[in-house]
Amino acid sequence: VPPPASPAIRLLDPAAIDRIAAGEVVERPASAVKELVENALDAGAARIDVALAEGGRALIRVEDDGCGIRPEELPLALARHATSKTDGRDLLDLRFFGFRGEALASLAAVARLSLTSRVEGREAAMITAEGGQVGPVRPAALSRGTVVEVRDLFFATPARLKFLRGAQAERMAAAEALRRLAMAAPGVAFTLRDLSAGGERVLMRLPAETGEEALRARLAAVLGRAFADGAIAIREERDGFLLTALASPPAEARGAAVSQYVFVNGRPVKDRLLLGALRAGYGDLLPAGRHPMAALFLDCDPMRVDVNVHPAKAEVRFREPDLVRSLVVGGLRRALGGLHAASGLSRSA
Ligand code: ADP
Ligand code: MG
Repeated sequence: VPPPASPAIRLLDPAAIDRIAAGEVVERPASAVKELVENALDAGAARIDVALAEGGRALIRVEDDGCGIRPEELPLALARHATSKTDGRDLLDLRFFGFRGEALASLAAVARLSLTSRVEGREAAMITAEGGQVGPVRPAALSRGTVVEVRDLFFATPARLKFLRGAQAERMAAAEALRRLAMAAPGVAFTLRDLSAGGERVLMRLPAETGEEALRARLAAVLGRAFADGAIAIREERDGFLLTALASPPAEARGAAVSQYVFVNGRPVKDRLLLGALRAGYGDLLPAGRHPMAALFLDCDPMRVDVNVHPAKAEVRFREPDLVRSLVVGGLRRALGGLHAASGLSRSA
């Protein structure tokens, strides 16, 4: 039998490459919300307003009062691998969430996107893109900051569109993404609105928090006053790692592990090591099937953790996983051992 004929190898066309790459960064409305809100935070916004129609399936709009984008740089903002946040080397600047320069390019490839922006001392301008086709820069009206509108997410990739869930489920996921970022930035005011039913409904309103107790106040606003008032405060420092956390007393544990938030150097992450350590810290105090509510903040030298593992998965990799685990387990055990009332939660102190 002769071997099968060898097919020719071809390069994908650039539009196909963009759509495939986009799927890595944006999986659903919640990931678009995350990327756009991170951009607003990176721009130094003090106020970020998010609006959704049909849970973000029809429209996601993020408005901020940050630094804005110069008109002539609007096309670059939509270009893949273009960013203002690194100097082009493989070093992450911890002041920023962004570094890949992929989010806006991805959204431009798979949705109808409009980006309107104004920098101090210049006129506002806007640019639009649809399924990867980028239009010209045009004058626009905007008093300050940036407005990004994403319509018809995945209209250009029907296979992916099929995987979106209903408006309600997507709205909940988007709200959750926003809550995580809001906990990481207590000094910023957030609103989340639902534009679906013709009218407008405020789903979440978080005023800017300031001062020593800003983090606790934000956690109270996001996770509930009952949690923030009843939670145990943990502060543990070892070998250059600082852990600050609020964790519910074991008696307040819940039936599902839904309210466990972990932040590494100010970034919301979903890390198995840290979540496992959280569980282990409670040990026997937790009845089987019960889960603590907790917000855990771990800060360390950026060289000791890699946050650059996957564009959307929010995984991290620690250089010293055993040290991190024992810090978290030990911190929780000590705090839970005393079961004293919470006080003085301040990451900067
Ligand atoms: P990254 O955030 O990784 O740089 P993005 O595709 O998310 O990549 O954004 C590309 C660039 O567009 C950013 O580096 C930034 O310069 C600019 N930009 C995006 N969103 C905003 C915003 N809300 N305000 C100011 N600049 C923005
Ligand atoms: Mg970004």
